[in-house]
Amino acid sequence: MQSTTTIKETQINTAPFIKQSVTLQDKTWFQTGGPAKFYCEPTNNQEFKVALEFAKEHQLEIFILGAGANILISDDGFDGLVIRPQMKTLNFNKLVDGFALVTAGAGVLFPDLINSCLDQHVLGLEEFSGIPGTVGGATFINLHFFKFLLSQFLVSATVIHKQSLETLNVDQNWFDFGYNQSKLQDHEYYLLDATFKLNQATELETAYARGRSSEMIRYRAWRYPSKNTCGSFFRNFHDHEVSHYVGDKKMIFVAYYLDNFGTKGTLKYGDAIVSHQHANMLVNLGHATSQDIISVAREMQQMVYHKFGLVPQPECLLVGFKEYPLYTKASLIKP
Ligand SMILES: Cc1cc2nc3c(=O)[nH]c(=O)nc-3n(C[C@H](O)[C@H](O)[C@H](O)COP(=O)(O)OP(=O)(O)OC[C@H]3O[C@@H](n4cnc5c(N)ncnc54)[C@H](O)[C@@H]3O)c2cc1C
Repeated sequence: MQSTTTIKETQINTAPFIKQSVTLQDKTWFQTGGPAKFYCEPTNNQEFKVALEFAKEHQLEIFILGAGANILISDDGFDGLVIRPQMKTLNFNKLVDGFALVTAGAGVLFPDLINSCLDQHVLGLEEFSGIPGTVGGATFINLHFFKFLLSQFLVSATVIHKQSLETLNVDQNWFDFGYNQSKLQDHEYYLLDATFKLNQATELETAYARGRSSEMIRYRAWRYPSKNTCGSFFRNFHDHEVSHYVGDKKMIFVAYYLDNFGTKGTLKYGDAIVSHQHANMLVNLGHATSQDIISVAREMQQMVYHKFGLVPQPECLLVGFKEYPLYTKASLIKP
């Protein structure tokens, strides 16, 4: 259901591509949340810059929206400017040494990037087959799947500074990548495009890679929910946060802890439920609000805290909430 929040129309003159009071519910994978006060879809770097100028001039908070595959937007919406990059250029530069440099605009959908690479007989990124998102969102989180991280492929990028509007060409080191981590998370710079160093391949190698890619997509569809979810809701723990060992290894995987409570397919608030397929994935059955999803997540945090003394924290980005809606360890410890 559409949120009933209304945002007052303001008398601001916007560039033609900047709209007012635009619904976001249909632009996120969770299919929940209220509207954006201002919204635009820049199709090139110049329009992106105009949008930043607009936000600066009117002192608006900015949120960059990718495919909405890793966010939960508050039912009150976002009281600022949402920019959803639609820069979709793709450029292949095949090098003599067998490598290829592929430059993709921030708005390119990751599955499209993988398919274009396969069409060009360029391999590497198919390890991320079946993961939704854009190049911007993938770089923000340093997309990961088992041992593969996007930072193993990204060699350079173009970013723009939020305040000075200066455009920089940066290399991989600039991003300070880690697991679930990149410099973009300081919210000072936004990604305009990224360049990946990949391998040129033969027809036969590409055919194998294509098959593997299809198999990964099939496997993910069977193993995980594939709509109305943000994927993993909570991030894995950092090594220093946990003291529980399995064998000689610290148990950092949040799903290990969440699997203890029989919540799969049962723990539910409104239309928000823990997936029957995965204890760390929440699903909107159709009419959930963002608050329903938060209520399920808070219950999961409490369960893990009472049994293990740990408080899971979200991998999913929480957008537009006036206050942090989940528990922290401090808020769970009774005075
Ligand atoms: C079914 C499912 C399975 C998933 N599996 C995985 C998985 O295996 N591995 C994994 O790593 N993730 C996984 N995810 C999470 C998600 O796919 C990734 O985090 C993805 O990179 C999100 O991209 P997005 O474009 O949708 O970003 P959004 O969700 O729209 O935004 C995420 C963050 O990126 C920022 N951002 C977006 N574009 C830019 C930009 N141009 N410049 C600066 N910041 C930007 C946003 O501001 C926001 O903070 C899964 C999600 C789903 C729904």
